[in-house]
Amino acid sequence: MAVPGHVVGTIDLWRCLNCGSIDANPRRIGDLKPPSTIGWNILEPNEKWAILACYDNKAPNNWELIRARPGLVIKHTCAGPEGEFLVGEGYGMTLPDGRLPERHDLRLAEDYMEKTILLIK
Ligand SMILES: [Zn+2]
Repeated sequence: MAVPGHVVGTIDLWRCLNCGSIDANPRRIGDLKPPSTIGWNILEPNEKWAILACYDNKAPNNWELIRARPGLVIKHTCAGPEGEFLVGEGYGMTLPDGRLPERHDLRLAEDYMEKTILLIK
């Protein structure tokens, strides 16, 4: 994850060879030790790891790793007015009134394997 000029965090992804589920662990700048939950975050069949990007919070608190699934309501707190999102069938995100968020994005981690997610609006 990066904002122009800085890396603000990484997400380590592991795919289970038995079940194919992907485990994800976020690391922010300053986290030195790996978490103790590696391998234990098993997704439900319709869940995907996703990054909620927030353009109203400053790095390193401008992203959050979540388990997204269609129908999920995400509650979020930040400096801006957008505080609730609905995840759609295609894992897109809308505001409760159906509009697209202006200050937030949802990105699927699997689309960014080995890539940098640039957090810029
Ligand atoms: Zn926000």
